[in-house]
Amino acid sequence: NNQNHVIPGNYVSVVVVMIPLPAQGHLNQLLHLSHLLSSYDIPVHFVGSATHNRQAKLRRVHNDETSHPIQFHDFDIRPYPCPPPNPTATHKFPSHLIPSFTAAANHLHRPLATFLHTLSSKAKRVVVIHDSLMSSAVQGVDTISNTESYTFHTVSAFAVALHSLERQGLFIGSSNDKTTTLYDGYFPKELNVASMEECFPKEFLEFIGSQFRQLPKKGAGKIYNTCRVIEGQSLEVIERVEPQFRHWALGPFNPVKISSSMKSCSSHSCMAWLDQQEPRSVIYVSFGTTTAMKDEQIKEIAIGLARSDQKFIWVLRDADKGDVFDVGKVRKSKLPEGYKHLIGDRGLVIRDWAPQVEILSHWATGGFMTHCGWNSCMESITTGVPVAAWPMHSDQPRNMVLMTMVLRVGVVLQVWRQEVVTADAVEEVVRKLMVSEEGEEVRKNAEKLGNVVRQSVEDGGESRRELEAFIAHITR
Ligand code: UDP
Repeated sequence: NNQNHVIPGNYVSVVVVMIPLPAQGHLNQLLHLSHLLSSYDIPVHFVGSATHNRQAKLRRVHNDETSHPIQFHDFDIRPYPCPPPNPTATHKFPSHLIPSFTAAANHLHRPLATFLHTLSSKAKRVVVIHDSLMSSAVQGVDTISNTESYTFHTVSAFAVALHSLERQGLFIGSSNDKTTTLYDGYFPKELNVASMEECFPKEFLEFIGSQFRQLPKKGAGKIYNTCRVIEGQSLEVIERVEPQFRHWALGPFNPVKISSSMKSCSSHSCMAWLDQQEPRSVIYVSFGTTTAMKDEQIKEIAIGLARSDQKFIWVLRDADKGDVFDVGKVRKSKLPEGYKHLIGDRGLVIRDWAPQVEILSHWATGGFMTHCGWNSCMESITTGVPVAAWPMHSDQPRNMVLMTMVLRVGVVLQVWRQEVVTADAVEEVVRKLMVSEEGEEVRKNAEKLGNVVRQSVEDGGESRRELEAFIAHITR
């Protein structure tokens, strides 16, 4: 069904241009989607700053072995301030990244427009897929001939649905005084979700507001990194609230287990350690790329993991800076004295980039303590690994509700709102996930859902059909 033959003279029938927000969780998703589309022989251009493109390439999960390798286009978005993360800030949101986001959204606009004009003269159709938070960069693309744009949401459909309802005044998050039951009829009332104000600081809410106001007026559709077998209900809500758009659920993009044609890149030593463990005996602990923790918090986690008596892999890294190659002032958190000796061979602490998808795919991994970043949620769902949810900021508190109350594939760290979570609470949630009846129950649910999702991306499966319908649509 490949309709994208390259026409002599370099004229192609369709070409895709990806415009990510420069944060790891966002870069990953558009990069995975790029690989998926290029595996259908569609040329894909990945547009960003030189630094962030380098970051995306360095940390990508799979090799580029398709006949149309992804082409990276580096544009200059400097200068922007690049402070280190602040683990003692009152809001856990990584506000230090905001200057790099605004620089990318604003400075990419001009070079991108020139680039798209050139491409549009060489292709029957240019398909622009942009992060929903990069609208400033794609201002006016609808007016370029042969060009159509799709807004890409990097958060769960559940988070998008709640936000859409909120923007229409149909629902207000629960930590707000004006708690309502207005989302009755959309979601069950008892879902007690955090308000946007709790999830984001004011300055980032303003950034979100400005990017949403600038969304292309004639956008051709919206794309989600999810699938109907996971989030059918939320997608239906979105379709009811925004019927003017066509909504495409193209996920999951998780490359290792999903597609055997994509080879993994990892030879990290933790994989050999995992090989020696019992099935489902290891809890993987990681809080993504935007979490900065106080030393005090790190100490409590260390003690809690040690006391839990469970095998673990703990990724202990500070949040990324706006430029991950700027090594100035990188904080290296200290573990309690004698910690390595205390845990012996029972746990691994990884200080560098961990091969997360592969760790989750390994048979020895039986649980995932996560901040509920959307990539991490999708990666745990597709690999069938249950979670201990400890959300920090952004869409994470809402993803936690989705994972634990809607999908029931995880347990909650009840005291996640506390300034510092104690070692006792960490120990308790680890045991609950790994060795309790409740843990067993959510493990079964997670494995079942993982199987359903993996089947849905096989030939003829529901998710595969939606992806193929999208390919047919853009190559029409
Ligand atoms: N990741 C990884 N190794 C690490 C840390 C993170 O592979 O050491 C990947 C992880 O698999 C996920 C992404 O980085 O794809 C983090 O995205 P997520 O949405 O979970 O969290 P964020 O970093 O955006 O808060």
